[in-house]
Amino acid sequence: MTNRNTRRAGRHFLQIPGPSNVPDSVLRAMAQPVIDHRGPDFPELTERILEKLNRVFDCSGPVFVYPASGTGGWECALLNCLSPGDRVLACETGHFATLWKNVAEKLGLEVQWLAGDWRHGIDPQRVEDSLRQDSDHSIKAVLAVHTETSTGVTSRIAEVRAAIDNAGHPALFMVDAVSSLACSEFSHDDWKVDVTVSASQKGLMLPPGLCFNAVSDRALESAAQAVSHHSYWRWDAMLENNQRGYFPYTPATNLLYGLDEALSLLLAEGMDNVFARHARLARATRSAVSAWGLENVCLDEREFCNSTTAVLVPDNCDADVLRKLILERFDMSLGTGLGRMKGRIFRIGHIGDFNELMLAGTLSGLEMGLELAGIPFSKGGINAALDCLAGD
Ligand SMILES: *Cc1c(COP(=O)(O)O)cnc(C)c1O
Repeated sequence: MTNRNTRRAGRHFLQIPGPSNVPDSVLRAMAQPVIDHRGPDFPELTERILEKLNRVFDCSGPVFVYPASGTGGWECALLNCLSPGDRVLACETGHFATLWKNVAEKLGLEVQWLAGDWRHGIDPQRVEDSLRQDSDHSIKAVLAVHTETSTGVTSRIAEVRAAIDNAGHPALFMVDAVSSLACSEFSHDDWKVDVTVSASQKGLMLPPGLCFNAVSDRALESAAQAVSHHSYWRWDAMLENNQRGYFPYTPATNLLYGLDEALSLLLAEGMDNVFARHARLARATRSAVSAWGLENVCLDEREFCNSTTAVLVPDNCDADVLRKLILERFDMSLGTGLGRMKGRIFRIGHIGDFNELMLAGTLSGLEMGLELAGIPFSKGGINAALDCLAGD
């Protein structure tokens, strides 16, 4: 924070649900000298990264890495598999699902929008019903956001997969796992996902700048048929180059150093332990929120979110005033309300490189902030969270 006149002692608390905190060893890995991406040493790095990505996505097919934000990953999936005029079924869960739908429309796809209330995840039954009604199979893909980061709601992707199968529908299944990957259980293969879209700056504990497409054989087959005009995103060029350990154009080399290290950290902890840690910290966060007498945006406990808790403030309060106060007074950033949630909620990110004491600090800043902002609440959220952690 070099542009501030006064020095702030201690660490800034970055508790937005992405970009998330980056471990020191990942920052150090990125500080290595830049490597020749066409040189003889490069393929070793590529192979190491791709092998670890297969394990983290639980995907036996290719995982493509692009220098782009997550939004690029959405576009990449749609352009490779589909042709202008194709129909897609997109499920409204919140702000990010809406943005993905907007990308699809801008690319000339015809979107069937399964409306939602931003407080629940995807209803698998409604997906099944919509697909059953599409008897001539004109819907080419189902778009689903796994964790809707704007609301802190995690849809039951395995059940959505089962709904597609129950309907006997051949649509491709495209899943946004940007803020669920390495936070909640996710299996590209077991859930028969055709394209998993993700990005570097959430559970993967990296700065923004990389996006991913993990793809199935069916997705590769549809890519061979699709006729969208595009160049930068082409999977065929990426696949051909990756097989030799290279990229079709200059990759974000120093982010790849960071990715190599971040993936090693996750695999050393063990993916199941990573999920369990996120689940525990999320449970403790929810117990603080309910002890404060505040309301979680997520209404269905089957859809509680491991990476983000979105909290409603009482009707006559402005969540952004609270966020501003907490930033100025305690140097902590919380997530803002997006889209129709603007001013109504704040979001606590408990994602990525995060532990018990960081959570305790986060909740302490919130409890002091609620008091100073004059928002009606009950004290005791921190104790409820600590009890939860001690007993869990
Ligand atoms: C962060 C995020 C994205 C990606 O957004 P970018 O700003 O383009 O990186 C996409 N989907 C979800 C669910 C997200 O949380």
